[in-house]
Amino acid sequence: MASEFEKRPIHRGGCHCGRVTYEIVGPIDGRVSECNCSICTKKAYIHWIIPRERFRLLTPWEDLATYTFNTRVAKHHFCPKCGVAPFYIARSDPDKIDVNLRCVEGVELTSLKIRHFEGRNWETAIASERDTASER
Ligand SMILES: [Zn+2]
Repeated sequence: MASEFEKRPIHRGGCHCGRVTYEIVGPIDGRVSECNCSICTKKAYIHWIIPRERFRLLTPWEDLATYTFNTRVAKHHFCPKCGVAPFYIARSDPDKIDVNLRCVEGVELTSLKIRHFEGRNWETAIASERDTASER
């Protein structure tokens, strides 16, 4: 684990007030997406899902507020002070970290290819996503 964090680059991110902060090791790679489900539409997440080993939360987990709904698999963490949600645990990948790229410092969103995820029809969308997983 420690060796992962000796690699570069390290990205830093967090909420608005600074209570929730984290570090991520490695480049911004893989799939970056927006989703049109009921909560992502309102929160405006830019999703980037990474293995937990690449993510280091610098805030105690107990300090996060968490919202759940529907299947309650997704853990919509957010800062209890400023309300910003710099990462969460996604229903599609509960063993990973879904980083909100809007909250990562120095990321130029216009330079990224942001794919669309049809979260309004989640079951269909996730099935087709897994069929094409080899493209990632
Ligand atoms: Zn905050």
